[in-house]
Amino acid sequence: MEKNIIRAIKGTKDILPDQSKKWQDLESSFRNFIQAYGYREIRTPAFEKTELFERGVGEGTDIVTKEMYTWEDRNGKSLTLKPELTAPVVRAYIQNNLVGESPLTKLYYFDSLFRRERPQKGRQRQFHQFGIEAIGSPYPECDAEVVASAYLFLSGLGLSELTLKLNSIGSKKSRKNYCDALIEFLNPFKNQLSELSQKRLSANPVRILDTKISHEIEILKDAPVIYDFLSEDDKTHFIEVMDLLDGLNIPYTRDNHLVRGLDYYCRTTFEITSEVLGGQDALCGGGRYDNLVELLGGKPTPAIGFAAGVERIMIALNEKTPQSENFECDIYVITMLRDSIKTGMIVANQLRQSGFRVEMDSLRRSMKSQLREANKMRAKYTAILGEEELKNKKITIKEMGTGDQKTIEIDSILSFFQK
Ligand code: AMP
Repeated sequence: MEKNIIRAIKGTKDILPDQSKKWQDLESSFRNFIQAYGYREIRTPAFEKTELFERGVGEGTDIVTKEMYTWEDRNGKSLTLKPELTAPVVRAYIQNNLVGESPLTKLYYFDSLFRRERPQKGRQRQFHQFGIEAIGSPYPECDAEVVASAYLFLSGLGLSELTLKLNSIGSKKSRKNYCDALIEFLNPFKNQLSELSQKRLSANPVRILDTKISHEIEILKDAPVIYDFLSEDDKTHFIEVMDLLDGLNIPYTRDNHLVRGLDYYCRTTFEITSEVLGGQDALCGGGRYDNLVELLGGKPTPAIGFAAGVERIMIALNEKTPQSENFECDIYVITMLRDSIKTGMIVANQLRQSGFRVEMDSLRRSMKSQLREANKMRAKYTAILGEEELKNKKITIKEMGTGDQKTIEIDSILSFFQK
C-alpha cells in the first residue's frame, strides 16, 4: 500500500464498477415496479434543519440522540445530514402543498442517508435506501398495499429466504396504556435489566422489546402483549390489513415485539428480514405514521410508508451471484495505424449515436492486443481499419462468434449494422 494515500471515511464505501451494474439494475427495477402502483419520485436535499429530525423523528430516539451528523453553519443555524427520509419527504409535502394536487399523495425515493452508527457488515455511516410514502389515507387497504409492495418487490428480486413480520402498535392512547402495563410488569425486574434497558424503562419502554440480550428476552416472554391493549378501532384496522394480505397471498408472521424505534409510528408496523444476512438481518422496515404531518406543521393527515436498505439487499443478492456482468460491447473499432484513429473515432461516434455500444482503443495498442481486448469485452463485432481499408475508404467487419468477415464501404457502416 502506498504511503500517504487518502482513504475513505470509516463506515463509507465506494461502489466499484464490478458492483455498480447491480445497483443500476436494482434502482431501475424499483422505479418500474413502484411506478406501476402510481408512485412518483421525490428528491429532497442532503441536509435539513436539525429541528426537522428532532421534531419529526423524536428527541429520545437513538438517531437523534447519538447518530446524527450535525453541525453549526456559519450563521449559527444547526444543520443535519439526513439520517432518514420520512421527515424530509413530509416536510417537502407540507411546504410544497402537495395535498392540493391530490387527496392521496404517493411518493417514492432512492437516496443516500447518514447515521453515525458503529460500522459492521450491513451497517454503514453513509448508506442508501429506497422507499415509499403514501400520504392521505387512513384505511387498511393502503397499509396492505404498502406492505404487499415491499414484500413483492423484495421477493421478486429472487430473495427467497424472507420473513415479513407484522404488528400493530395501535394509536397513541392504546400505546400509552400498554406502556404503563409494560412498566408495571418490568419494574420488579429492573435490577436485572441492562443499563440501556433501565434507561428505556423510563424514556421509551416499548424499545426494550427490541433487546437482543438473552436473559431480557426470557423476562419478556411473560410480558403483556400490545394486541390486548389495542382499541376496538385499532383491532378492526389490523384485522382488515391481515385479511387483505391473506387475499393477496402475502405470507407474514405476527410479531408482538415489533415496535420500531421511531416515535411517530402508529398502528401497522412491519419489517422484512432475510436469513442470509446474519446479525443485521432487517432489509426493510415501515409503518403507519398518522401524527407526523401534523407534528411538522401540516393539517392532520394519515400516512404510511417503508424504507429498504440497498447495501443489505446487495449483500443478500451477492450471496447468490457475486459479480456484476462485465461491460459488453456491440462493436469494437480496431485502428491499426495512427492515421486511422481519426476515422475510427468518427465511425465509433456515428455508431454510438445510433444506439450501439462501441469501444475503441485509446492506448495505441497493437492489433493483437486490441483483438484480445475485444474478446474480453465479448464484442459481437470488430470493425477493423487497416492500411488498405483506410486507403480505399473501407472497413472490415468481423463477426466474433463465427469469424466471418466482410469488407464494406465506410459510409455504409450504419446501414450494415442497422439491417
Ligand atoms: P430504518 O430507517 O432504520 O427503519 O431502516 C430501514 C432499512 O434501512 C433497514 O431495514 C436496513 O436495511 C437499512 N439500514 C438502516 N440503517 C442502516 C445502516 N446504518 N447501514 C446500512 N443499512 C441500514
